[in-house]
Amino acid sequence: MNEDKRVPCSGCSLLCDDIIVIEKDKSNYDIIGACLKGIQKFEQRNSKNRILSPYIRQNNELVKVEWDEAIKKTIKLIKGSLNPILYGFSTTSCETQLKAIKLAQKINGFIDSNSTICQGKVLNSAKKKGITTITLTEIINKSDVIILWGFNAVESIPRLLSKVLFSRGKFRLTGREIKTLIIIDTYKNASFKVLGTKDLALIVEPDKDIDLIKILKKICKNNIKLPNEGTAGIDKEDIKRFITYLLNSENIVIFIGQGLLKIQKDGNPLEKLLDLIDIINNKNKNGRISTVMMGGHYNMAGFEHIALSYIGKNQNIQFQNRKLIQTKMNIISKIKERDFDLSIIVGTDAISHFPSEISKILTSRPIILIDNRKSGTYFVADIVLPTAITGIESEGLAFRFDHVPIKLKKIMNPPNDIPNDEELLDKIISKLDKNNVNSD
Ligand code: SF4
Repeated sequence: MNEDKRVPCSGCSLLCDDIIVIEKDKSNYDIIGACLKGIQKFEQRNSKNRILSPYIRQNNELVKVEWDEAIKKTIKLIKGSLNPILYGFSTTSCETQLKAIKLAQKINGFIDSNSTICQGKVLNSAKKKGITTITLTEIINKSDVIILWGFNAVESIPRLLSKVLFSRGKFRLTGREIKTLIIIDTYKNASFKVLGTKDLALIVEPDKDIDLIKILKKICKNNIKLPNEGTAGIDKEDIKRFITYLLNSENIVIFIGQGLLKIQKDGNPLEKLLDLIDIINNKNKNGRISTVMMGGHYNMAGFEHIALSYIGKNQNIQFQNRKLIQTKMNIISKIKERDFDLSIIVGTDAISHFPSEISKILTSRPIILIDNRKSGTYFVADIVLPTAITGIESEGLAFRFDHVPIKLKKIMNPPNDIPNDEELLDKIISKLDKNNVNSD
């Protein structure tokens, strides 16, 4: 390992590039500047749930095996599969994501990333409506109103508010004083503690975001009178203050969180919010609203870029005869309709993240897991292949939440000569080439 180093942190999609690592001895180092979540990420190297050897399920138990045996079994499973799915890739490098798409093409598989149920939704919908996304630097320099909608910044991206809210920015004479924070959520999450006296807390009733959006739309269009009892559990005066900010501010950014992705009784709240933004942006000639989707995993945005540039499509990628074909299926419907016979999960805990009925079906077919830590998926996988931690034991490219590329660095060698994700996928691809698998 080198002397003191400034490195990016891959603890979340903010990819803070101001972390200083000071070597104490061969396996210990001090981390300066990272939040607790970031420190945990760096400490993952020596954590109890680290996977250090390959495993194969035998008699319903995971048994430690040599690499040769694990790879042999992996190749055998892939060779025997006619309809594999590949999923995850939000905590791997872009180089790995590209290799994974090439693997999916080779084995005529279906591939998608975690982004499909998160960041990618906003990207695709905003693109259709022509609503602009914004970079972190622009937010720091220009934003005067910061809105967190269904997004608990303090716990999921811990240093975000210190960068965007408590900073002054290039074009402002003051910092926090001129910035207004508005939080909309169904409960008082940890981020509410950051609110100051002139900020706005809007606790919306569960599944009623669309009601709030509808009334805001009506006010924008017709200047209607607000109902005295308020809307969606929000006080009339607070709605008035909210719309005043929306219509009179220069640079508003809305950070959209998971809380707004679930379909509600009256439809898709994300689509409705984007409609509202469109209306306000047309009405407010002196300002604009931009959106950012906040995915927690550090390289969710990367898959979007890599898939779009390699294959021209960023979600629900299905290959047949090694060519991209159109499909109406997504990862959830593929699993739900049992339209797969093998899953290859990379760098994610699909079993814990999916709804339980989907996870149950996923476990009914063989699972090959490539990851560096034990998770719910580890405990049900048929083959476990450990890899180096990208951003600590391996370098690679990642895209920050705002789609800015950041080069992750290697700080030290992985234990037990574990390969990185890209090297492992390379090995699988070259073994498949030798075996001439699934040839057209
Ligand atoms: S905010 Fe995210 S990227 Fe920054 S130090 Fe914390 S975990 Fe790491």
